[in-house]
Amino acid sequence: MFEHIERVPGDAILGLIEAYKQDDNPRKVDLGVGVYRDDEGNTPVLAAVKRAEKRLEESEETKSYIGSHGDERYTNAIARLVLGEDSSALEANRISVTQSPGGTGALRLAADFIATSLPGRAIWLSQPTWPNHPAVFGAAGLELKHYPYVNADNRLDFDAMLAALNEVPAGDVVLLHACCHNPTGFDLDTDQWQQVLEVVKNRQLLPLIDFAYQGFGDGLEEDARGVRLFVESLDEVLVTSSCSKNFGLYRERTGALMIAAANEKQMLDVRSQIAITARENYSTPPSHGAAVVGEILTDDELTTLWLKELAQMRDRINGLRSDFVEALRPHGLAERFAFIGEQRGMFSYTGLDADQVKRLRDEFSIYMVGSGRANVAGLSANSLDYVAEAIASVVR
Ligand code: PMP
Repeated sequence: MFEHIERVPGDAILGLIEAYKQDDNPRKVDLGVGVYRDDEGNTPVLAAVKRAEKRLEESEETKSYIGSHGDERYTNAIARLVLGEDSSALEANRISVTQSPGGTGALRLAADFIATSLPGRAIWLSQPTWPNHPAVFGAAGLELKHYPYVNADNRLDFDAMLAALNEVPAGDVVLLHACCHNPTGFDLDTDQWQQVLEVVKNRQLLPLIDFAYQGFGDGLEEDARGVRLFVESLDEVLVTSSCSKNFGLYRERTGALMIAAANEKQMLDVRSQIAITARENYSTPPSHGAAVVGEILTDDELTTLWLKELAQMRDRINGLRSDFVEALRPHGLAERFAFIGEQRGMFSYTGLDADQVKRLRDEFSIYMVGSGRANVAGLSANSLDYVAEAIASVVR
């Protein structure tokens, strides 16, 4: 029965990890994989997480199932973290929160919800976007459409984005990145969020905001400005959030789907559908990561420690951005790459083409994704000058 089944190429980034591992050049640099790294190239478990895990080990009394919507201590805490302590939408009881297996699980819940409860609506994705966005929404059977996001000079093209959104048919879904846009690193400022909000209102679109990097851009509160503006101003919004990066819980699969509805009744109606979607996919979510986040966010001491560690990760990335632009200065490239200092989050769309990316890999053992996306967190004080020199040599 399996004879006709074709082998498909594996994930390009996983291929990159393998090639990097095999490379015996001592100067090799991995700017490919999308995880945070410290100056030694490690992705350590946060101290706040370790402490929370110790406590849970002592206090956990059962491994029985948690419900389809997950652990309430976690869902309450994550909703306040994302929507703000003073969220009037939370106060009005019009937000449903469902714990999910990572941000990806939340996206799939959202996709299935749209496919079953709001059939016939296309989803509009930024061009470019995280490659798993079209994969997840496509797998759920949604029609995929694209709006422009960067121009040929590798800068945010807000005018083109807004013009395209102005043409989207009423009722369609628009996916927006809350902050730290993956892959480009270009984010909307407050005024631009406001303008997108006006279009969404005028054209009666359903926004889905993917929030995978809260705290990695300008700060926990600052990064949430678009999400909070939308949730407070609109009756209906979907938000997917992830604790993979900001709590370093990648493999524990910890995320949430939040849905704002016009009122409590509609919220509960929608919520009942999400419980079914969760059951059909994986029944109930994994417990551990959410228990850890719940423990941290409900304890002042652990919260303070976590905030400090999160700020360290953010400051390291933003510091590397400006240091990298400085490292390019002696090569006369600081102006050309100044945008790296303005982008936010782990990723930078460098504007390097596939040939240049290939040369970096073949000649210098510097690995990044073919699109020219670099994980800034993969740089270190030791590799900055080497990478700057290599880039200077491939762009000449
Ligand atoms: N959205 C975006 C834009 C992402 O970059 C990621 C992680 N790479 C996710 C969602 C999902 O992350 P996870 O499933 O690991 O929580």
